[in-house]
Amino acid sequence: MQFRQIDDASKLKASSCRYCGCTDKTPCLDGMDEPCYWIEQPTRTRDGVCSNLKCVTVFRRDKKQAKRVAHKQARTSARAL
Ligand SMILES: [Zn+2]
Ligand SMILES: [Zn+2]
Repeated sequence: MQFRQIDDASKLKASSCRYCGCTDKTPCLDGMDEPCYWIEQPTRTRDGVCSNLKCVTVFRRDKKQAKRVAHKQARTSARAL
């Protein structure tokens, strides 16, 4: 029964890349015929990002955008004060 519990827990949230959906068990190729690795480890609440060139590119772009949004929000709240 304990074995089954562990199995269920791993099924609950598979660690996968948020962009291409590859997992620990099924890594994709990173564009240089190497299996990908995590550049951002998946957490229980958030999917990770793998080293696939496409995923890295989108991840960097997203990060930049998030930064810009945070900056804008900070400015807006500063003006409100
Ligand atoms: Zn990926
Ligand atoms: Zn991958």
